[in-house]
Amino acid sequence: MSIVYRTCPLCEAVCGLKITLDDAGHVTDVRGDREDPFSRGFICPKGASLGRLDEDPDRLRAPLVRDGDQWREVSWPAAFAAVERGLAAVPGPARAIYLGNPSAHTMAGALYGSAVARSLGTRAVFSASTADQMPKHVSCGLMFGNPLAIPVPDLDRTAYLLMLGANPLESNGSLCTAPDFPGRLKAIRKRGGRLVVVDPRRTRTADLADEHVFVRPGTDAYLLAGIAHTLFAEGLVTVDTPVSGLAEVEAALRDFPAELAARACGVPAAVIVRLARELAAAPSAAVYARLGTCTAEFGTITQWLVDVLNVLTGNLDRPGGAMFARPATERGARRKPYRTGRWHSRVRGLPEANGELPVATLADEIETPGEGQVRALITIAGNPVLSAPNGARLDRAFRGLEFMVSVDPYLNETTRHAHVILPPPRILNSGHFDFALLGFAVRNYVRYSPPALPLDGAPPETEILARLAMIASGQGADADPALLDELILTGLLGDSPERRAALDGSSGAELRLDAMLRLGPYGEWSGGGDLSLRKLREHPHGIDLGPLEPRLPGNLATASGLIELAPEGIMADLVRLRARLSAEIPEFLLIGRRHLRSNNSWLHNVGPLVGGSNQCTLQINPVDVARLGLGREAVVRSAKGELTVPLEPTDTIMPGVVSLPHGWGHEGSAQAVAAKNAGVSVNVLTDEDVIDPLSGNAVFNGVPVSLAIR
Ligand code: SF4
Repeated sequence: MSIVYRTCPLCEAVCGLKITLDDAGHVTDVRGDREDPFSRGFICPKGASLGRLDEDPDRLRAPLVRDGDQWREVSWPAAFAAVERGLAAVPGPARAIYLGNPSAHTMAGALYGSAVARSLGTRAVFSASTADQMPKHVSCGLMFGNPLAIPVPDLDRTAYLLMLGANPLESNGSLCTAPDFPGRLKAIRKRGGRLVVVDPRRTRTADLADEHVFVRPGTDAYLLAGIAHTLFAEGLVTVDTPVSGLAEVEAALRDFPAELAARACGVPAAVIVRLARELAAAPSAAVYARLGTCTAEFGTITQWLVDVLNVLTGNLDRPGGAMFARPATERGARRKPYRTGRWHSRVRGLPEANGELPVATLADEIETPGEGQVRALITIAGNPVLSAPNGARLDRAFRGLEFMVSVDPYLNETTRHAHVILPPPRILNSGHFDFALLGFAVRNYVRYSPPALPLDGAPPETEILARLAMIASGQGADADPALLDELILTGLLGDSPERRAALDGSSGAELRLDAMLRLGPYGEWSGGGDLSLRKLREHPHGIDLGPLEPRLPGNLATASGLIELAPEGIMADLVRLRARLSAEIPEFLLIGRRHLRSNNSWLHNVGPLVGGSNQCTLQINPVDVARLGLGREAVVRSAKGELTVPLEPTDTIMPGVVSLPHGWGHEGSAQAVAAKNAGVSVNVLTDEDVIDPLSGNAVFNGVPVSLAIR
């Protein structure tokens, strides 16, 4: 028996886990790591089921190659050779890549995902970011010059939190890394602070708030614009940070008085005005908005307004307000104008953002003939058939690809279209470091988890991706992946044999991590401290690097060196927001929802995590059930498709709004537990033609639907 301490990789909360293994390497117990200074023993049901996920009998143990409908296991060299043949037949511009959300939770995805994308020689780069948080990246890029400079609410010190479209009691937090998010929210109230939750559903998070405000789906921008308008109108603006464009913002928001905003968002004008006054009067306050507000037609404007409010109330970059983390592997961003639209998608002419095209146009790029038509696809840890808008169309489009390779532990709704599947090893075979998530932490913190178990002959996931990158760049299936690491290390260290020799690590990934730590803000080579991989190994429970500290203006990467409050694109899109004020409100608006025992489509094959209250039902207000004379099921129709779904009447949802969780639709899946709890895919209903134009983000909230008796 042995005990290992690791970071949980299953959501953004980065909890420390204490895992007991028997002598054969089976997980016998998982608990929260009480000695982790950040998570302090917190664990949720997903983390507790890590062993079941890691040892899922349906996980692929060897690469698969498909001949027609038949799959056969092959050796790793044979699998890489098949990938080389498949990619060689398709020129670079006709190749595409899709990186799924779990890529952000692995060292392989963080360190090698972009290398694979670059090696393909294509601009057809897609990821789950455009079905999730891209609006926040774009708004922060425009305002702060760096799309990764995302302020987070200083949860542990704030006196007032206004939270929109987020349900951390189920999600455990997103773009805000905070283990035991529920406990941190309760602590706000315990110390006399106030928590206000804005959501079309009275969620579990709303239940523990001081106040819950119902808002019409997709209209958070109106609510926030109404609050900002009130701050200006009542002389409540206090700007303590270096900004440009304040007068332009005031002028642009004159069109959104509380009374007008109220009509669009359904929140009474008196409440909008009161929220503005409360935000301005609180000793410290933060506005935080997440997925429900990003995956909407005005996603980028909404995210911009969140930080405009943090600026206008003097709460950006101060303790208790919205602050920037200082992660241990941070590299300073260079000052230059942040731009989107450096190139456009071939078929719909949609602008890139952060080097990616919207996943909402992936099917167009595959289906539409012409030069640059996508004929080959790599997917890494993604299941876009279930997670992208109009997944049914993507399902059909994937069938027409000449070649597809998937890096994935499962044969699932997406990977079944692949010609080769390359399964990564067990989670416990891999080292873990959160390159992305620690940049959004509510306390500066760092932790490294080395591999807990030796590999049994299969390559590590880092090597799988490195080999893919080398094959894609034409170096061949037999090229040494260490060459890629050395190239990247040279880029990091420059010509410094001394530093290269000093690096510690038993793999390319560890060497690169060590270099990044030593060069980072707490590292010995930056003069900021003595952080290195060796030090992290000596602290298996992680290291607390202190509370968030003010970082402006140093953290700004805008060309002006100021917070650019009035970016041109946002100002122009406000005209669209204003014009939509008079739009008709559909009879029903569809929204998604999270569940504590679920995370996208990843975890539906883990017995203890499905069933009970984690089911694929359509939540609907009983008033609507009675009005339409509905029974136990209903037919839901949208512009793109229809589904028959079981109803779950509940007065926790607004009349005129229905909610269906995403990530389901596993009928006929090769995953036995998931197939038994198949549910339906909400993305049969969502519309790939409707996006947030500034970020290209898909729209999952506020989808117009109608309901009929089955
Ligand atoms: S909250 Fe997230 S990180 Fe923590 S145990 Fe649960 S799934 Fe893992």
